[in-house]
Amino acid sequence: MATIGILGGGQLARMLAIAGAPLGHRFLVVDSAPDACASHVAPLLKADWRDFDALEKFASQIDVATFDFENVPSETAEWLTSHTRVFPNPAALSVAQDRLLEKNLFGEIGLETPVFAAVDSIDDLRAAVAKTGLPAVLKTRRLGYDGKGQAILKQHSDIESAWEALGSVPLILEAFVPFDSEMSVIAVRSRSGEFRHYPLTRNWHRDGILSASFAPIKVDEDIERRAVARARALAERLDYVGVFALELFFCEGRLLGNEMAPRVHNSGHWTIEGTACSQFENHVRAVIGLPLGDTEALGPAAMLNWVGELPDATPILAEARAHWHDYGKSPREGRKVGHATICADSNEELIQRLQRIGRALDREDHVAPVIAALAASNEATARGM
Ligand code: AMP
Repeated sequence: MATIGILGGGQLARMLAIAGAPLGHRFLVVDSAPDACASHVAPLLKADWRDFDALEKFASQIDVATFDFENVPSETAEWLTSHTRVFPNPAALSVAQDRLLEKNLFGEIGLETPVFAAVDSIDDLRAAVAKTGLPAVLKTRRLGYDGKGQAILKQHSDIESAWEALGSVPLILEAFVPFDSEMSVIAVRSRSGEFRHYPLTRNWHRDGILSASFAPIKVDEDIERRAVARARALAERLDYVGVFALELFFCEGRLLGNEMAPRVHNSGHWTIEGTACSQFENHVRAVIGLPLGDTEALGPAAMLNWVGELPDATPILAEARAHWHDYGKSPREGRKVGHATICADSNEELIQRLQRIGRALDREDHVAPVIAALAASNEATARGM
């Protein structure tokens, strides 16, 4: 039995603790919010991430530390390495915290990216627009997630207002990618270097926040092989231990790296019921030094994210093989408060379940893109593609 310390007490920490309990492990979560939702299932040490006295107490009570949030200050992660084992390592964390370092690394491992340029002044921004063309997306290099800290530039007259909105911190400008789809590779690497990946997941976002995911997606074998090879190269280059997500744009047959999340990821929530060993259990296994578990999909699975507030649970609970997750958080605009995973034996069965759920919750627009992708995949199979 080990005690795993988690920096950050949100829903990811909560689901890690739930997954690790059957393995006999204990958890201790550090968060400055007294009602952090992981504290409903694991003890909480209420402290700021720069409170080194509190962190000393934390380190003395745990066997290994990990993260539920990638924006833990790098000095905190570094400091922890001299007091306990820390996975993923702080160097991997700092690359993933900075969109510029991350994109440069993608290039080094042979993963194409959208055209991008670093922006530290309004003149840089003008030069960057000349490089990327318009439309383009201006993003803060650090501390951005779920579309936060981003502005879309559609025309040259947007340059000044975007600079005024974001220009107080280092930025990156990226060409806007007219992608065919967004997908992610959820993968895990163990302390002994064993690497496994889950089937490719397709993702849909609304206002920059994940809205729905579906796996396993049917793509050309070569695309899947390339995506997984890049994820593996990334993990090996960073000597990464634990679960991570590589988010990709699929655009006219090309895979472009968007970002890497150095932690369990929202687009991997379907693995809780959709695979034999979830991303959460595999992360726990990896950081503890246990063998990794099976990442094969048990069948098609769709995940619907609840953002802002929870809908009525009844239509989900009424469906066979549908699973309700309430994170125990109070409602707030733009906040992830829960999700549902709907599993099935076939795409047809999954379509029917999603249709019933969409109608019952009056959320047909939420389930529509997933249903359309499933239907298209069925058609492609029927045509023998
Ligand atoms: P991010 O926080 O960078 O993952 O961005 C959130 C979402 O915004 C992505 O999942 C995309 O849907 C969209 N997005 C971000 N960057 C781009 C881009 N360069 N081109 C098109 N869409 C983007």
